[in-house]
Amino acid sequence: MQGSLDAGELGVTLVHEHVRFRDEAVAAEWPDRYDERAELDAALDAVGAARERGVQTIVDPTAMFGGRDVGFMKSVAERTGVRIVACTGIYSYDYLPHYFANRDADVMAEHFVHDIEQGIQGTPIRAAFLKCAADAAGVTENVEKIHRAVARASVQCGTPIMAHSMPAVATGPRQLEILEEEGVDLARVQLAHCGDTDDVAYIEGLLAKGVYVGLDRYGLEMFLPSEKRNATAAELLRRGHAEQMMISQDFCATIDWFPPEAGELLVSHGAIRNWSMTLVFDEVLPALREQGVLDDAAFQTIFVENPRRWLSGG
Ligand SMILES: [Zn+2]
Repeated sequence: MQGSLDAGELGVTLVHEHVRFRDEAVAAEWPDRYDERAELDAALDAVGAARERGVQTIVDPTAMFGGRDVGFMKSVAERTGVRIVACTGIYSYDYLPHYFANRDADVMAEHFVHDIEQGIQGTPIRAAFLKCAADAAGVTENVEKIHRAVARASVQCGTPIMAHSMPAVATGPRQLEILEEEGVDLARVQLAHCGDTDDVAYIEGLLAKGVYVGLDRYGLEMFLPSEKRNATAAELLRRGHAEQMMISQDFCATIDWFPPEAGELLVSHGAIRNWSMTLVFDEVLPALREQGVLDDAAFQTIFVENPRRWLSGG
């Protein structure tokens, strides 16, 4: 964890993983429901395993409503020796608290700029990118407001953006349209979760806008099985798109969305399979190498050069 990011030193990078994901309001109101020690152990295990596969940096897009906590990230980074890159922004599919509902996008942007220029949560750790989201509800009025605020902070500070998208309802084109209207350089935008579809034409439509696409939910079979994710990745590589591809798992070392028994059911029903911070190294990359679509140069492009270029702009 660093106050300022020297993107030249990122090395092998996973661009989308969460060391912890939980609702900050529930966690603040009922802390006894959470076992901070167990959360830290799970994060250390996950990040430690990634480090053993050669990972030097993890980009963690946990924003507001995901329980962003740079103190926690810092503990994980210090104990594992893996750099963790933090963001600012709001992870909402529609809801906004009254605080932001009654303030405009420019004021919202000021909050993000503070995290980028001054530091997050009273620390000197600065946000290296901005996060926004659109999901099943589509680009609602509130989602649009968050996108405009993120865009304005990006334009003001030159900070890159990661936008969670949902291919099943084709949110991507409208998200990019808003960012473009605000003057964002789309070469600094990573559209997350494009790998949830195997519609290569849809993905190529987004690539044509100049963005990076995230094939970043390996292991979450409920959105798309790994086999189909691999076929999509292979086709994109064959078509020469390596320089705009990001591969990751969106793994959450712990997540409070489901009670433990529901989490077990997701695994036993195959909705989640081998979801971890190492799945891409253990299964995905060997499969892509076997197909002859991924060599050392392409690996370097996707896991070292693309994250560096996206974060640094150069
Ligand atoms: Zn995520």
